[in-house]
Amino acid sequence: MPDKLIAFIRSLYNEPEAFIPLHDPRFIGNEKKYLMECIDSNFVSSVGEFVGRFEKMCAEYTGAKYAVATVNGTAALHIALQLAGVQRDDEVITQALTFIATANAISYTGAEPVFLDVDRDTLGIAPTAVSKWLKENVELHNTPHPINKKTGRRVAACIPMHTFGHPVKLDELKEVLDKYNIPMVEDAAESIGSYYKGKHTGTSGSFGILSFNGNKVITTGGGGMILTNNEETALMAKHLTTQAKVPHAWEYKHDHIGYNYRLINIAAALGCAQMEKLDHLLELKRELAEKYRNFFKSSEFEFFSEPEHCKSNYWLNVLITKDRQERNKLLEYTNKNGIMCRPVWEPMNRLPMYAHCQTDGLENTAWLADRIVNIPSAAVVNRE
Ligand SMILES: *Cc1c(COP(=O)(O)O)cnc(C)c1O
Repeated sequence: MPDKLIAFIRSLYNEPEAFIPLHDPRFIGNEKKYLMECIDSNFVSSVGEFVGRFEKMCAEYTGAKYAVATVNGTAALHIALQLAGVQRDDEVITQALTFIATANAISYTGAEPVFLDVDRDTLGIAPTAVSKWLKENVELHNTPHPINKKTGRRVAACIPMHTFGHPVKLDELKEVLDKYNIPMVEDAAESIGSYYKGKHTGTSGSFGILSFNGNKVITTGGGGMILTNNEETALMAKHLTTQAKVPHAWEYKHDHIGYNYRLINIAAALGCAQMEKLDHLLELKRELAEKYRNFFKSSEFEFFSEPEHCKSNYWLNVLITKDRQERNKLLEYTNKNGIMCRPVWEPMNRLPMYAHCQTDGLENTAWLADRIVNIPSAAVVNRE
């Protein structure tokens, strides 16, 4: 199987010898043209028309009322959490199976993450796990937020993450969170172009965030986006991410501790060109996933398909191997042969800075961490 697999991936990418990365960028549109416009106009930095254009394109694409561009997805998440009301010494629920940025953004606010289990059929946070943990651990006093009985802390928000582009069970999760009055901030960093029951990921909660890092479906080199339907918080997000400067023709006055989290015009120019090609790239990614699905039907590996009621962007294609030993064998063989494959992230609760955090059993998390392998997933485009 491994030899056949390597030959198959090489044939998909028409790349008989060279190294094949997990997910590299695809620049097939107006990228160069828009970058030249930045340079010719001298608007390369914090001022320029591409930032507003990119925000508008992202709002229109996702169906969010407002989109605020940021320097990266992690910064977007940090600000979204702040605006969702997360404060120092609060607790924020998220999944143990996520990229480190989710947990770190919680830490930046001074809050503590609580790591709960995921569903095997979505790879994202399990609404049943959230419901069970809340039932056992919190009480609703006469406060707007539930209080953790053991720690005395407020449970101030929940961050579901749409792993590798596969949407979380949002309806079930929202029902649980609404019961406890907990705002939802969606980490949709990996899921641009993914839909849950026809609704774009990142638009069902108080906030959603996107990432345009170099390894994502589309990229601005580095960049992020805050999505929200609330005008007031959108304006505040813009304010906080641009040093909280009070508008004035020449005075330098600031009314909050703001951040230099703005997206520069050069990056936004790339973003506009990439957005124009997003649907095309998503189609190609779907075709690729379909080819993988067919190929793995007759193999010892299970190809992970989009969950029920969902359309996934298939950001990174997922194989489920038999056990950790099989996983390691596959990783070793593919990487040795110039095909980049990767395991899933080490669960957050196993990292030294988060080892003390509250968790539940994390059964599915451990099971998946032993078995997931990501295989090359960038869209195959015909490049002359
Ligand atoms: C990529 C990513 C982010 C944000 O990453 P940036 O590199 O800061 O844009 C956040 N969460 C998850 C799950 C991600 O995959």
